[in-house]
Amino acid sequence: MSNKMINHVESVLAEIREQGLYKQERPLESPQDASVHAQNWDDDLINLCANNYLGLASHPELIAAAHRGLDSHGFGMASVRFICGTQDIHKTLERKLAEFVKMDDAILFSSCFDANGGVFEVLLDDNDAVISDSLNHASIIDGIRLCKARRLRYANNDMDDLEAQLRAAADARFRLVVTDGVFSMDGTFANLPEICELAEIHDALVMVDDSHAIGFVGERGAGTPDMHGVEGRVQITSGTFGKALGGASGGYITGPQAFIDLLRQRARPYLFSNSLAPSIVTATLAAIELIEQSSSLRHKLAQNTSYFRERIGAAGFEVIPGEHPIVPIMTGDAVLAQQLASELMRHGVYVTAFSFPVVPKGMARVRTQMSAAHSREQLDLAIDAFSRVGKQLGMIS
Ligand SMILES: *Cc1c(COP(=O)(O)O)cnc(C)c1O
Repeated sequence: MSNKMINHVESVLAEIREQGLYKQERPLESPQDASVHAQNWDDDLINLCANNYLGLASHPELIAAAHRGLDSHGFGMASVRFICGTQDIHKTLERKLAEFVKMDDAILFSSCFDANGGVFEVLLDDNDAVISDSLNHASIIDGIRLCKARRLRYANNDMDDLEAQLRAAADARFRLVVTDGVFSMDGTFANLPEICELAEIHDALVMVDDSHAIGFVGERGAGTPDMHGVEGRVQITSGTFGKALGGASGGYITGPQAFIDLLRQRARPYLFSNSLAPSIVTATLAAIELIEQSSSLRHKLAQNTSYFRERIGAAGFEVIPGEHPIVPIMTGDAVLAQQLASELMRHGVYVTAFSFPVVPKGMARVRTQMSAAHSREQLDLAIDAFSRVGKQLGMIS
């Protein structure tokens, strides 16, 4: 074989490195938790970059539920759902989830990436239009690419632009507006009340990806439709089990019975990919039950979030305001964001820097994420580290 292609790929890699965009993985030697132990690193790190919002990733009740699932239903399914990969627990989880978010039914996927990858192609064709927020998750963008519907985009949370796009697609048979419930880089909420209202005026459907909300946003923890009081006005939701609901893996779509029935017949990632592992199913069920039984983890998370937001703002940092446990600390400059993250690590705090192309140019940041698992002491230590490093880097005085 000629080395031409390998040489080409190596030059692409070199380019990524030169641009400072090469992502290094840092192996952890501990479970995912409020603090973690990183390989080749002496002290434990306070972890401010997991999607472990409720602290369920290593919660004893979920671990016990996973063990029980392993014992009663085995390790793997070795089948897709429709051949011999559906167990009673898969049906139980689908029912439980649908009831939790007050929808007709739910269908499980290996990930929310797969759920979003499969949903549009099944429900829409070239007679239709899909109207998508410009900050939507990559999996929504890819899912839309896989379907033949006309694609329109509106500026992030811009309701005038959304209405303009709804008008521009007035001749479509069906129009579907799709948005993330929470925008993951900013920690801001989609304006669901107005989106639903515009959709109703223009006879369009609404789909919400609630990956950064399911389990902890809203009075019942049922996500952004719960928070905004628009349950029943959103026709389709997607979400992940890989964040607040234990953080293992798996995703879902919920919606009207006919939509879910058709997805079981036609969604390609559902038909051609393996069934969710039993231990994940039983532990995810336990997560939803825990959330239904008690609001204490949600309240702890909300308290931690407002405490951290208030203190980090008072220390002089520029924070994107809001209420979500995603708390972006703005540096503007990409190099400064990198420096802030690496210095914080030396001060015992694990955070991640984000810069272009993940966020717009000049909007680099360190994104912190709160968890119900963080103690007040851990948050104080983190805020103290931010203050010291911020002064050292000239970000605050
Ligand atoms: C994390 C995330 C996903 C992907 O979920 P996985 O289950 O990890 O594939 C999809 N959409 C949004 C909005 C997300 O935040």
